[in-house]
Amino acid sequence: MTKLCVPIMVDSADQALADAHAAKAAGADLVELRLDRFSDDRIAAAKLVGNCPLPTIVTIRPNWEGGDYDGDDMHRIALFEYLGVACAGQGPAYFDVELATYDRSANLRQKVMLVVDHPGQPRLTDTGLILSSHDFNTRPPDLIRRIKTMADYGSCRVVKLAWAARSLRDNLEAFEVIEQRHKPTIALCMGEHGLMSRVLAKKFGALLTFAAIDDAHGTAPGQPTIHELKSLYRWDALNADTQVFGVIGDPVGHSMSPAIHNAGFDGTNYDGVYLPMRIPPEYEHFKATVGSFLAYESLHFRGASVTIPHKHNLLRFVEEMQGEIEPLAAQIGAANTLTVRDDGSLYASNTDYAAALDSVCDALKIQRDALQSKRVAVLGAGGAARAVVAGFTAHNAEVTVFNRTLDKADTLAEGFDAHAAAFDDINSADFDILINCTPIGMHPNEDATPYDVTSHPSPATSTLRVVFDTIYNPVETKLLREAKAAGCITVSGVEMFVRQAAAQFELWTGQPAPSDRFRQVVLDRLNT
Ligand code: NAP
Repeated sequence: MTKLCVPIMVDSADQALADAHAAKAAGADLVELRLDRFSDDRIAAAKLVGNCPLPTIVTIRPNWEGGDYDGDDMHRIALFEYLGVACAGQGPAYFDVELATYDRSANLRQKVMLVVDHPGQPRLTDTGLILSSHDFNTRPPDLIRRIKTMADYGSCRVVKLAWAARSLRDNLEAFEVIEQRHKPTIALCMGEHGLMSRVLAKKFGALLTFAAIDDAHGTAPGQPTIHELKSLYRWDALNADTQVFGVIGDPVGHSMSPAIHNAGFDGTNYDGVYLPMRIPPEYEHFKATVGSFLAYESLHFRGASVTIPHKHNLLRFVEEMQGEIEPLAAQIGAANTLTVRDDGSLYASNTDYAAALDSVCDALKIQRDALQSKRVAVLGAGGAARAVVAGFTAHNAEVTVFNRTLDKADTLAEGFDAHAAAFDDINSADFDILINCTPIGMHPNEDATPYDVTSHPSPATSTLRVVFDTIYNPVETKLLREAKAAGCITVSGVEMFVRQAAAQFELWTGQPAPSDRFRQVVLDRLNT
């Protein structure tokens, strides 16, 4: 079973012990005591190892391999020797030594071998040797040779590799290294692109993954916190069969989708996990990454939410792969959902337009058919407006697009049998439903509004009944506040956001989405 290891940079024995107790309480299985800055006090170090509430990895990482130790090798190896003897019976579970150090000197190897368990060890010791290799810049060109060299040492119990991921695809190589292991293996990618390797280490059977005790105490770039691994990425539920989903976009760092969908998997006991997946904007990156995810069978990649700038790339990819495209998504020119069906075929669809339609229909307590002939004013002509216009015209509403750049309104209107008008014309128009698809009023510009409800030409006789703002941050925009005060039914962008996510969840899992839970996750996120 893959273990959760919390690295602790030791500055004092008291601090390290307190951190180790906190790690245990948070659910860690072991701790890595990084003695880089604490290698001079042997007695305190031995006491710390002996008193630790969890099994330990002891590491003294030199600065030339990303650590803080700047002494000589013999000094730190002497500390290993001392710990090996002084802690007999209650010693570290592992010593970690870099391959480069181990390779360099037969004398040093001999000293290490005195205190670790290996086939020729006459002494009784439980401490195993982790041989490790780190590259903080890139994937080392000789990665495979390094693995073989480490594994070939009879004294090596665990092979550890960590390198800076150049793209999401490097994670797949980490999984391959783990799956093809001859000895227990840790293979992790560092940096933003490497999160996948850290979370899915358990799916592929790595010896362990590292998680920081909190945001301030990571020891490598991209290390999640133990709370994130356990609460957000469903660590305890992960297994070899777990289905993998994600949000594909650039950027994706602040996406709420991982919190929503993982909460959904939790709430329905669905064996899935959902991760952020940043792919650079170009189609070639999208195609290469998604293509390699699909080809890596044991990853069980089953779908993704697809956001800016890849909504069109998704359509192109699914078409090239001879998958199925939802007709309205093709007409909109953008899909936000990739579903990998049980037979491996692909389906691209757009859950935004239906989410917008249902948000309004539910607020009005009407069926979609009742939208026929309703006069709908859409502010904006960007991506959100396209989905909204497509949805409402498909149900025979009378849609007018008001946009700052009239040409764009014209083009959008032409494609969907709608009308186009200049943005300011909204002030002299009358309509039943107003939908804001511009970012005006969005955080942090919360004092702005795209339309002054109070100065409507004839408020008393106006037919305006519903105001829907696609913005979800803040939940209640100035536009919605004023519309509510004027007696209109108001709909927040949160409703659209929750519904588009719920539709994705249902496509992927075949189960009803726990929409109330989704809504709560979104509101909690927005309120913190
Ligand atoms: P987009 O493609 O960039 O389009 C933005 C539109 O707003 C454009 O038509 C632009 O006019 C107009 N606009 C921007 N600033 C303006 C200003 N100061 N005055 C007048 N018009 C202005 O963006 P998008 O992806 O459609 O997103 C728009 C909004 O929808 C965002 O606030 C987003 O939060 C929201 N949204 C919500 C959801 C949800 O699930 N609730 C989903 C998607 C989007 P020009 O054409 O003249 O540039």
